Amino acid sequence: MGEDGNGMHKARPIVIAVGLVAATCGIAFGQGAQDRSPATTGTLPPATSQPAPPWSGESGASGHPLMTADAIRTAATHFHTCIDKLWQAAARRGISRSVFHNYTASLTPDLRIMDLLDNQPEFTKSFWDYLDILVTNDRIEQGRALLEKYRGAFDSVERAFGVDRHILAAIWGVETNYGTLIGERSVLRSTATLACIGRRQDYFREEFLSTLEILQRGDVRPDRLVGSWAGAFGPTQFMPTAFKKYAVDFDRDGHRDVVDSVPDVLASTANNLKKDGWATGNTWGYEVVVPTTFNFLLADHSRPMSLREWERQGIRRANGQPFPRPDEQAFLLVPAGVQGPGFLMLNNFSVIMKYNPAEAYALAIGHLADRLRGGGPFVQDWPRYERVLSRTERLELQQLLARHGYDVGEPDGLLGLRTRTAIRDFQAKNGRIPDGFASAGVLDQLRAR
Ligand code: CA
Repeated sequence: MGEDGNGMHKARPIVIAVGLVAATCGIAFGQGAQDRSPATTGTLPPATSQPAPPWSGESGASGHPLMTADAIRTAATHFHTCIDKLWQAAARRGISRSVFHNYTASLTPDLRIMDLLDNQPEFTKSFWDYLDILVTNDRIEQGRALLEKYRGAFDSVERAFGVDRHILAAIWGVETNYGTLIGERSVLRSTATLACIGRRQDYFREEFLSTLEILQRGDVRPDRLVGSWAGAFGPTQFMPTAFKKYAVDFDRDGHRDVVDSVPDVLASTANNLKKDGWATGNTWGYEVVVPTTFNFLLADHSRPMSLREWERQGIRRANGQPFPRPDEQAFLLVPAGVQGPGFLMLNNFSVIMKYNPAEAYALAIGHLADRLRGGGPFVQDWPRYERVLSRTERLELQQLLARHGYDVGEPDGLLGLRTRTAIRDFQAKNGRIPDGFASAGVLDQLRAR
């Protein structure tokens, strides 16, 4: 659950990671990505031991009119007027005058968040770098220990919701390294800041009001309601609106505590996946071998086929086993092109993508779950020799493609589905295997034309 330009699933504490994944892996921040933000999935150590740096005072990289330095300063001046205007909406949600007053009277905006909201790093990591960071031996061992320690809770939650315990543990591990990287920003202050300043105010007004509802109800202790800059909190990073939809008081103490109660955390996360369509007893997908002669234009989210049909196209499981249920529908993901592994993704992968709409993170969650269950690493190697293009190079790639008549939309340095399709078309017309992978070789070939 993370954040990016559009989709905020749960915004992770680690901001750096967000934009990177988006840029490198071509994440589509779509409709389903409303409550969590891929942008911030917690993976790297948060800078919590040092005082947070102040706002840079600079205009945001998005170029949005509400993100200029002047617009941010002006909005900050009117912060309290803006918050006070939300009182009527809060009252309609059953928030009392005293709760509203007590929690908002001394609030100040956290302008540093404006830098994070528009963070567009120049250099990005590759798909395999993210998997290396998120699925480590240490994380596998810790996850197995937690599965053992909370076996009773996992048993009950699995029974009640039909969601595989290893997936729940993997979400816990990928989102916050099992609750150790939760972030330390006040959810109330973050969502209030974003509700009144910057380019996502409509979205965050809802998150801010939902935060007040949580405080009014007393589900989570105010001092424990801390998290990422975008307001995601707890070991599995619930945004306040997602909390309202999915949180469950599984240990029946009267509080839906997705921060400090392991049964509530696991049950709420399972409830979220179940409501998003998790198919009980199924896995998320399979690593597959894609022949070099394959028609890579079929590798597309929007072109699902049955596993049987994929087999007819020459695709095989990497471990040599047959597909257990060949009639299941799957789409093909080839994140690193013909030189890397392919994956046939089942419905449950799409459910994980709703939880965290970044392909690399969703794959990390599925893979970590398999490893926790005792499975091995991926069979095929990643093309680790491939250099990842910088943001400047990605922009140049898009501009060159556009100049040669390929449709990439508005060049933005983010390699989404449209850019991948354009690369595939270019490759197909230029005697290369059309795998859509934005390699340095493709850029060189475009430059030479
Ligand atoms: Ca509870």
